[in-house]
Amino acid sequence: MKSEGLNTKDRKEDMDCIFCNIAEGKTNSRVVFQNEEIIAFDDIHPQAPIHILIIPKKHIQSLNQIEDNDLPLLTRMLVTAKTIAKQVNIYDSGYRLVINTGKEGGQVIQHLHLHLLGGKQLRG
Ligand code: AMP
Ligand code: ZN
Repeated sequence: MKSEGLNTKDRKEDMDCIFCNIAEGKTNSRVVFQNEEIIAFDDIHPQAPIHILIIPKKHIQSLNQIEDNDLPLLTRMLVTAKTIAKQVNIYDSGYRLVINTGKEGGQVIQHLHLHLLGGKQLRG
């Protein structure tokens, strides 16, 4: 449901978004990369020695809400993952990128994020 007359940032559900708060510096995180549109930080409950989340600074709920004009941003998120993989020395050893989407996809935080995992042999 759309909130008439309010922009995305003014909507209540977005004000409560933990990842929006991280992007705005209102919630602490260990930031490993940021520019005008993307921020990346350590996952608070790492599933591998390297577990970094790459997010758009603007609130996008999930991959399902990606529109054609977001495609350059999505591409830059992927390229950012590769850049960070180099930065944290898993570029050559290998890494995994995951985007959980929706309930059965295991998405817990309703702000699009790309998991970058590596630093050990990943299974399954
Ligand atoms: P997902 O299940 O794909 O929605 O993943 C959400 C991820 O966000 C999980 O891996 C959490 O450990 C991580 N997470 C939740 N809160 C924070 C936080 N404040 N800082 C960093 N990572 C977080
Ligand atoms: Zn958000």
